[in-house]
Amino acid sequence: MNGTEPSGSRLTPVRHVILDRDGVLNRELDSGWLTNLGQWQWEEGAIEALGIWATHGTWISVVTNQSGIGRGVASRQAVDGIHEWLGDELSALGIELVGIFVCPHAPDERCDCRKPRPGLVLEAVEKSGIPTEATILIGDDLRDLAAGRAAGLRVGLVCTGKGPRVRDSLDEDALVFRDLIEAATRTVART
Ligand SMILES: [Mg+2]
Ligand SMILES: [Zn+2]
Repeated sequence: MNGTEPSGSRLTPVRHVILDRDGVLNRELDSGWLTNLGQWQWEEGAIEALGIWATHGTWISVVTNQSGIGRGVASRQAVDGIHEWLGDELSALGIELVGIFVCPHAPDERCDCRKPRPGLVLEAVEKSGIPTEATILIGDDLRDLAAGRAAGLRVGLVCTGKGPRVRDSLDEDALVFRDLIEAATRTVART
């Protein structure tokens, strides 16, 4: 037993997955912030992956930096409207979220919730009531993984969004998933 998990195998089952939003659930825009639903495009396989977790009883949270609000280029109302739609859309598919946790601050506000700081992740952990050992953070950027690590979680990079560009600068203890379906398949409880 050396504690490492062979690549390609399943991982210790997780009961709570905390996901970044942009580049993980939806395609990132080439520039700017997503401010209306017409701009929402699911990442390939994202809905299916959420379904796999939900079917296995894995709790799902979303943590997202939305500094467009703090920068004054996106309204809080617009962002909340998108998340309300997202929650309803998933709920209709039988997928319930623990919550969608948003940092609305601009970087110069130096808040505790903007990733790579762990505030949003800690909120999600607390609301879920699931221990950190049974929780994983999955994102497409290094600052997501830094936030997860700072909260004491296992972390994984998904190779959508910024993933392919940042993959080479990863520490070796981060997991790498080709896409969210692979992430779901490898992290759900054994049946
Ligand atoms: Mg992202
Ligand atoms: Zn914040």
